[in-house]
Amino acid sequence: MAMPPIKFTPRRHEGLPAAVVTGGAGFVGSNLCDRLLAEGYRVICVDNLQTGRKSNIRHLLGNADFTFMEHDVVEPLKLQARGIVRVYNLAGAASPPMYQRDPIHTLRTNVIGAINVLDLAKQTGARIFQASTSEVYGDPEVHPQPENYSGRVNCYGPRACYDEGKRAAETAFFEYRRQHDVDTRVARIFNTYGPRMSPEDGRVVSNFIVQALKGEDITIYGDGSQTRSFCFVDDLVEGIQRLMAADEPPTTPVNLGNPCEFTVVELAQLVLELTGSRSRIVHRPLPQDDPRQRRPNITKARELLHWQPAIALRDGLIRTIEHFVAELAGYA
Ligand code: NAD
Ligand code: UDP
Repeated sequence: MAMPPIKFTPRRHEGLPAAVVTGGAGFVGSNLCDRLLAEGYRVICVDNLQTGRKSNIRHLLGNADFTFMEHDVVEPLKLQARGIVRVYNLAGAASPPMYQRDPIHTLRTNVIGAINVLDLAKQTGARIFQASTSEVYGDPEVHPQPENYSGRVNCYGPRACYDEGKRAAETAFFEYRRQHDVDTRVARIFNTYGPRMSPEDGRVVSNFIVQALKGEDITIYGDGSQTRSFCFVDDLVEGIQRLMAADEPPTTPVNLGNPCEFTVVELAQLVLELTGSRSRIVHRPLPQDDPRQRRPNITKARELLHWQPAIALRDGLIRTIEHFVAELAGYA
């Protein structure tokens, strides 16, 4: 059954420019909401709470400039709001075990949801951001990955609902620009971590930290020689805002990620060292189509946005561990 249209009634500070953040109760989205409020936007957070959590935005619920709307972007967004100047599309589970729970809904979110959010930008004339992903490169043979690498995605494997959905969304963003003159900005985000990741999320950084803090086995999938390049969330949000502030929309998607590359074994060892945990490392089967290597080429972000990450993995992990210590103790 179709959901009723969202009615948004501006509250006190009607004069402020408004930003819509889909997926705003999630890990990255809630950090972005904080940043937008600090910059003076009214924020309308749209989320179906599939992987997002009210606790991520609890501190914002009493803020007159913040509105939360529980809504699935697979249904059209009929926001009746004046002053929407920015739209950020972050809706969509990012963790493989989460997006594989209901792959068809993931595909709908990443494709139909993206088109619905684009329609909102078209109606309001707002500039729109798309959270695309390094997963568009699949299991890459070119290393590190520049934006002009077309990638190697298995279009019928268990990751395809996410990867191909995000690829189709990029198409939609560039066609809305060409056909409807919508000001679209697409970032390909590489593995990002930090406070407000859910302990149940299933991604490697949150899994390892939670396992280490609980004294449980650290689960390395495969032999752990596969690599990822981990970006702290504050660096990512800075990159997103620079991309949105650029005078001209870039002619291609832009990689946003930290080019320092680590094996999964190295990550496990660092988490054990920083937590002082005595957890054992155990090995589990490598999931199908798990990329062997991943590292962004960020030349474009450096040149166009004058952006590069500032937070080293060790420092970002310390801040993330503090978050999980508080969360597991019931304080976050
Ligand atoms: P997350 O799972 O914490 O956040 C996703 C949010 O989207 C959640 O709050 C979830 O409830 C919401 N959502 C999911 N489906 C929805 C739907 N149909 N309608 C409305 N809301 C929906 O993940 P995240 O790490 O914060 O990722 C945010 C975005 O960034 C995602 O689009 C993801 O694909 C993209 N991204 C993230 C990373 C990363 O490493 N964190 C990397 C590449 C891309
Ligand atoms: N991984 C792991 N143990 C875990 C979770 C993940 O070894 O408990 C591995 C996973 O197989 C992959 C890497 O860590 O090689 C990153 O996984 P994540 O799900 O965080 O992100 P993605 O695969 O989407 O990059």
